[in-house]
Amino acid sequence: MSNGEFDIIQRYFTASKRLQRKDVIVSIGDDCAITEHYQNQRIAITTDTMVENTHFLPSIKPADLAYKAAATNLSDLAAMGATPAWFSLAITLPHVDEQWLSEFSQSLFDVLDHYNVALIGGDTTKGPVYTITITAQGIVPKGKALCRHSAQDGDWIYVSGTLGDSAAGLALLLQNAEQEQMGAQSAVTFEQEYLIQRHLRPTPRVLLGLELASAELANAAIDISDGFIADLGHILQRSQCGAVIDLDKLPLSEQLIETVGLAQAEKFALTGGEDYELCFTVPDRNREKLERALAHIGVNYSCVGQIRHKQRISFQRNGKPVELDSLQGFDHFK
Ligand code: ADP
Ligand code: MG
Repeated sequence: MSNGEFDIIQRYFTASKRLQRKDVIVSIGDDCAITEHYQNQRIAITTDTMVENTHFLPSIKPADLAYKAAATNLSDLAAMGATPAWFSLAITLPHVDEQWLSEFSQSLFDVLDHYNVALIGGDTTKGPVYTITITAQGIVPKGKALCRHSAQDGDWIYVSGTLGDSAAGLALLLQNAEQEQMGAQSAVTFEQEYLIQRHLRPTPRVLLGLELASAELANAAIDISDGFIADLGHILQRSQCGAVIDLDKLPLSEQLIETVGLAQAEKFALTGGEDYELCFTVPDRNREKLERALAHIGVNYSCVGQIRHKQRISFQRNGKPVELDSLQGFDHFK
């Protein structure tokens, strides 16, 4: 490691002035970090990489990038019902831009502090494009993690928040970038700005995941990163079952419907990625308890269908079967 890299770590990623966790025995500055081991708890570990031009536009603000890199990892922990604890950060920079680093690290630590997470190590390298890899670790009581493989016949399928906003926000960002390249100014409405913010600043559903796991409310869960149908598909495949989805129950924001119309809103909700809401399946006996718990947490939720054994995934609208042939882009689900 060169002096320059050491300076960067020291200045921007050494958390000594920020949050301290008692369970971090050795933090940044040694060959490894060392953390405490808890009895009757397990560690959930996840990694997400974001590469410039592939996962984010070069125009992204460093503060938004740091937020999102953290949020996507927190969302994976949430989907397992784990309490976030420790992050490592591998960052590749094309050049050293002090302003960029300062805004990035400020925003990163804001998120980490909010969730009581300690940055315990990482790696800092030079490379062709900005690349951010975070490894997140969380703590979950033995036997309580929310997995994908344990959905049961008859479980109700729930999603938090609204779906499709992030994909619409990304479409707007791309459209605006194109217009600006051609020298045109792009005016953004309030609704459009809302969707763009949902893309840049998704809310990881950490409290929801914790509640689902600790109170043993859900049988299975996943976070929606690839799109509702694709991610529900992972639960169905791992649990070896199918589902009936009520298209009329999909939670769509007013802003989404206002901006793209109902038909496109539904399509974004089914197939658009990066909402980072949770999709989880709940046995009938837990429904009341679940709805009370969620009202208490203050997160919006919708029941959008039911798990069916020995059946494929099918769709209905107002109780009537809908052939997905009539919608575009669903061929690969059949
Ligand atoms: P090594 O040579 O053992 O890989 P480094 O010299 O790369 O270690 O890093 C020195 C220390 O700084 C290590 O404790 C490492 O975990 C930490 N570190 C390096 N880069 C970062 C970063 N971007 N964020 C947080 N910690 C980092
Ligand atoms: Mg290193």
